Order: sequence, then structure tokens, then C-alpha cells
Amino acid sequence: MASHIVGYPRVGPKRELKFALESFWDGKNSAEDLKKVSAELRASIWKQQAGAGIKYIPSNTFSYYDHVLDATATLGAVPPRYGWTGGEIGFDTYFSMARGNASVPAMEMTKWFDTNYHFIVPELGPDVNFTYSSHKAVEEYKEAKALGVDTIPVLVGPVSYLLLSKPAKGVDKSFSLLSLLPKVLAVYKEVVADLKAAGASWIQFDEPTLVLDLESHKLQAFTDAYSELASTLSGLNVLIETYFADIPAEAYKTLTSLSSVSAYGFDLVRGTKTLDLIKSGFPSGKYLFAGVVDGRNIWANDLAASISTLQALEGIVGKDKLVVSTSSSLLHTAVDLVNETKLDDEIKSWLAFAAQKVIEVNALAAALSGNKDEAFFSSNAAALASRKSSPRVTNEAVQKAAAALKGSEHRRATNVSARLDAQQKKLNLPILPTTTIGSFPQTVELRRVRREYKAKKISEEEYVKAITEEIRKVVELQEELDIDVLVHGEPERNDMVEYFGEQLSGFAFTVNGWVQSYGSRCVKPPIIYGDVSRPKAMTVFWSSKAQSLTKRPMKGMLTGPVTILNWSFVRNDQPRSETCYQIALAIKDEVEDLEKAGINVIQIDEAALREGLPLRKSEHADYLDWSVHSFRITNVGVQDTTQIHTHMCYSNFNDIIHSIIDMDADVITIENSRSDEKLLSVFREGVKYGAGIGPGVYDIHSPRIPPTEEIADRINKMLAVLEKNILWVNPDCGLKTRKYSEVKPALTNVVAAAKLIRNEL
Ligand code: GLN
Ligand code: ZN
Repeated sequence: MASHIVGYPRVGPKRELKFALESFWDGKNSAEDLKKVSAELRASIWKQQAGAGIKYIPSNTFSYYDHVLDATATLGAVPPRYGWTGGEIGFDTYFSMARGNASVPAMEMTKWFDTNYHFIVPELGPDVNFTYSSHKAVEEYKEAKALGVDTIPVLVGPVSYLLLSKPAKGVDKSFSLLSLLPKVLAVYKEVVADLKAAGASWIQFDEPTLVLDLESHKLQAFTDAYSELASTLSGLNVLIETYFADIPAEAYKTLTSLSSVSAYGFDLVRGTKTLDLIKSGFPSGKYLFAGVVDGRNIWANDLAASISTLQALEGIVGKDKLVVSTSSSLLHTAVDLVNETKLDDEIKSWLAFAAQKVIEVNALAAALSGNKDEAFFSSNAAALASRKSSPRVTNEAVQKAAAALKGSEHRRATNVSARLDAQQKKLNLPILPTTTIGSFPQTVELRRVRREYKAKKISEEEYVKAITEEIRKVVELQEELDIDVLVHGEPERNDMVEYFGEQLSGFAFTVNGWVQSYGSRCVKPPIIYGDVSRPKAMTVFWSSKAQSLTKRPMKGMLTGPVTILNWSFVRNDQPRSETCYQIALAIKDEVEDLEKAGINVIQIDEAALREGLPLRKSEHADYLDWSVHSFRITNVGVQDTTQIHTHMCYSNFNDIIHSIIDMDADVITIENSRSDEKLLSVFREGVKYGAGIGPGVYDIHSPRIPPTEEIADRINKMLAVLEKNILWVNPDCGLKTRKYSEVKPALTNVVAAAKLIRNEL
């Protein structure tokens, strides 16, 4: 039986690509240096997979920034503002599209399905002149071949490419992106012919949009595209790869009817219902690439379970047509466990990063061919058994407490308007109160203090002194600016999830478990391996210290359970909802301890609630139900006079507005600066909203200082649709990444604008 890898991380085991890119951008390294590092990374990945015995090894999964941007380059679909005049697209044009340049902003970036990877959204209009303008796919194929590795070149499928695009600015509303299909296919034909001429015998088209709820005309586009490509594809083995969810029955039918396609890849980790579809019928003579090794997580595969799945599939498609594969590209998992020097051996035995998953895939394929590596299988079984029975994983008390939650909805007894009245009596805030989202600028000096404390280079006493000093400065500044509800500035936090994970039981941290987020940016998600509990208070010390420095209300600052969950690698031995409830209970204890310590306003950030929304609509209700419930659990125990804030980092929540209301927070602050219209339209359409709301009036993603009049203007626009007694005035998000020289004048204007309007009301 054969083996296949859908795609592989590009940044390198120690983020080599990140450092090479950033040096190049800073002018410290030449283009040649960057190319050299990249070629070395590619070569080592190919050799590793070949050495492990993988039969179908992908190429063109490397990217200098993003694989969708690579497809845009291949098609020559460069937006006119970048001034590209034709020819092979070089670093200049490519990185200008990715990151902008001195005179032109970057193209838009958005999340790749429900992962934390972001791709560059193609901007297309009716006049785009598609021309074959980047030969990267064929060059990579040849490069691997020269190293003795015959690969499967991977291309973003033509239909997914168009479905993930957006119409360019100013294009007529009636324009349909799919109308560009024939022009796009003309270039794909050239690319395929090129690959064929170079000797490729397989091609992989990634068409992940097939797992979405697509209307029938969109499904029809797949039929059209692959029959149009048929003559070019003849003589090649063509794999269409799907991933991230169950494939809907209609899409399955369309896909398996494509006659120019010889192989289908499915995610059998997240797509358990896809198994049933396959069992109910699979086209004879075609290959099934069975994605049984999870590309989205860091857990060792349950090899015995995978073997039985694969054996069942073998009975349907035949031994020679079944290929063992990963559920998705390994881009979304960490790179190599070998570099984890700080994890203990027990936890390490439970894990598999990309490099280890390659070995797993091959071991499964070998076992099914009768070459079972007994030692490997038995150590896998032993690791799984140890994970199941480890006392580090199970905490009876937590299990019981979480199970007991299900009987109740956990709603605060008093309704939100009555609570707001009670809070106002205590807090005595002006109308249009001003506040910020939590963090203040993090200086080099501050980071140094934290780093040295962690490395035990400075004493606890010195550390506390330095952080206290920072809090004092931040409090003084806010008083000077005359902000109404203060924050302590979060100087003690490196990251809003890591800070809590480090203090909770059930979390582990890696040193090199980086996952690409976008371009050279990577994140290092914590690993939730066990039942979550809170050994002791996490934020009370700093919050009470901060409150002691001012008479104004000081907001306690917490990260919510859903956000902690969504930004971690989550255990796969119980439902995500269960883990979320456990985190909610830990945060609940923290909320109540803050209240006891005299903190009257507590913000529970749910920055990532929206992004955890499942891809398929049929699964939305269930997710929103347990995630919103988890949030309510955290604060159901507080008094009416304690004001609960939450914060969200996106403005497109129109589709989940009712769930947001259902969270029953007293005040919500939300990102809004990039578009007032989107957000306000919800309220214009008559959604009843009675809680406090602070749509951001200062875009913290930009160094620009918004003028007072502009802010005042926006507040006025909001007042046209929202009651004046519920409106708050605040920035979009935390100020962590900005400089004090930007934050001071910007916040000065924010407060001035609020005062200006207060006087007019
Ligand atoms: N309280 C956090 C901060 O201000 C919120 C960050 C976020 O929403 N991403 O930094
Ligand atoms: Zn935010």
C-alpha cells in the first residue's frame, strides 16, 4: 500500500524561513541568501519524506509567503496598483502584494478556512489579463527531481481559487467571479502541460472549498472546470484533495463523477461522515487517498484504530487503490518533536508533530502491505495506554464539576438593563464612558524584564518592582488623559492565552512548536493535555495592586474559555465542549476572586469566539450553544453591581449577533474601525440590543492618529442607531503593538471626542 503527504510546513523546524525572510525585508540579507535557505529547507523536507518511504511526496507546497498568493502569481493576476508590467513575477512585486510597499498597501489577508493560517485574497475583476507569470510549480518539481525525488506538484485548484477570491474594488455588483473560469483554465492548461513535459506523472489539485455548503452552480463549476481540463490532463494521474470537514453528499457525488480525475483525497479525521459516503459507493478503478493522520493537531495517531479504518476501506476500493495520507496539509501542525527539549518524556510520547506524522503515515502503509513494524506499533499502543490512564490527564473533581454543569443554563438572575442601573449607581460613570481594551505598549525594556525573570536572572522582588512601576505609569497616564474605566496595561503578559495556560493545570508548552499564521508570523499554541484546573489565583495580585493606585474603576482582565480553547492544541480524547467547560470553571473561580478583591469591572476577552465557528452551517448551532454557555458560566456567580465586559476582535459578527446577545455580558467592546457600516447595519436592521457596547473608534493596527473630529463623527453615526446610555468609546483592540508616541495623541483625541459629544447631548 502506498503513502502520501498532503503538504508540509514551510517555516522550518526552527523558523529558519521566518528569519531569512525578515533579514531579507530588512535589507540585511540578499535575495540569494533567502533563496539558499529556502532551497535547503525544501531539500531536507523531500529527503526526509523519501527516506521515510513516502511514495507520493508533494512539491510546490513551499511558499515565500502564501500558497494562494503563489497561485495569483502563477496566473499573473496582479492588481494594477502594484505597477507590474509583465514577465516572470519577482520578489519585488510578490512581496509588495503580500506586505504593501512605501506607496501601496498590501492585498487583503483572511483566514484559511477555520485554521489560524491567513492567505492573501485574490482581487479579480472582469478585465484581469491572466497570463502564466510564475513558473514556481515546475521549477520546484524539477528541483526535487534533480535531488532524486519524483514529487506530486500541488496546485490550488482553479475553482477553489475563484471561490476564495473577491471582486476588485469598483467592480460592478453583477460581476461573478466564476465567470473568469475559462480564462483561468487557459493558464492552468499551460501549467499542467509544463509539468507534464518536465516528467510529472501525478498532479494534486487542492479543492478544499468542496467541504463548504456550496450552491449548485458552484458545484457545477467543478464539473465544468475538470471536463475543460480533461484533454490536458489525459495521461496524468489527477488527485483532487479536500480537507477540514465532512464533504457534503452533493459535493461527493459531483466530485466522484469527474472523469478526468483518478484520485480523491478526504479528511477522515474531521470527516467521519465521509466514511459513510465512501462505504455507500466509490467509483471503481479510482484511488482513495485516506486522510487518517491528523494534520491539524499534535497528537500521536491511534495506529490500531487507523488500521481498522483502512482495512474497511481496502475492502471497498481494493488494496492497490488505497493510499494512506494525512487529513490535511501538515502546515497546521508543529514541525518536529525532536527540538522539544523542555517537554518531559511522558508527554512527548503522546505527541507527533509533522516529522513524526510522516513516519506514522508510512508505518500504516507498510503495515497494510504486510510489513508491520511491530516495535513501532507496540510503543504507539503503550503511549496511548499511558495517556489514557495517566493521573496527569484525569482529575476526577474537575470531570465531575464539568459534568454537573449540563443541567443549568447559567444565566445571571437579573436582566441586563437592571444590572446596568445597579452598576451605574456604584460606578457613577459619565455618559459615553471611555476605556481601553487592556494592553498598553510593550517596550523593549519591559520584554527584557519578563525574559530575565523567567530565566531567573532577576529576583522576584526586582520583577514585582519593575512591573509595579510600569502599572503605575500606565495608571497615571490614563488619569492624565481622563479615561473613565482604567486598565493595568498587562505588562506581566507575553500572550493572552499563554499567560493563563502557564498558570492552569492540564497545559504544556513547547519551545519550537511554531505554526505559521501568515507570512513570517508564527504562533506557538499551548497544548491542553489534561483536565483543566486552577491551582491558585492568576491575576488578582496585579489587578488589586493596580486598583490600589487609583480611585477610578480598574478593569480586571481575563481571557475567556472559548478563546483559550481556540488558540490551543486541544486534547482529542474528549469533545472540545468538555474541555471548554473545564476552562470556564477555572475562569469562573478567577472572576469571583477578583470580585472579592474589590474589582468591580471585569473584562473577559473572547477575541476568538467567532473564528471557532465550524465550516458547515449544520454545526453552527451546537458550537454557539456550548461556547456561549461556557462564557456565561464564567460570570454567572457575580453580583449585579459587578460589571462584566467582553471584547471581540472582528466586526463581521452580523451572523452571530443573537449568540453575542445571548452571552449576556454587560458591556461588549468590538473591533470596528475598518468599517462602521458593517457593524451598524445590524442595529439599523432592528436588532434589539440593551447591553453596553463600544465599537472601536481608533484602529490600533495602524500608526495613524485619528483626528478628534473624525472620531466625533463616528460616535455621532453610532448614536443614530444606538441609545446614548449604552454607548462606550474605546479603541479597537489592545495597544500592545503600538508606540507611546502614537498611543498618547490618539487616546487624547478619543477622550476629546467623547467629551465633545457629551456636551452636545
Ligand atoms: N486584552 C487584550 C489586549 O488588550 C485583548 C487582545 C485581543 O483582543 N486580541 O491586549
Ligand atoms: Zn481585540
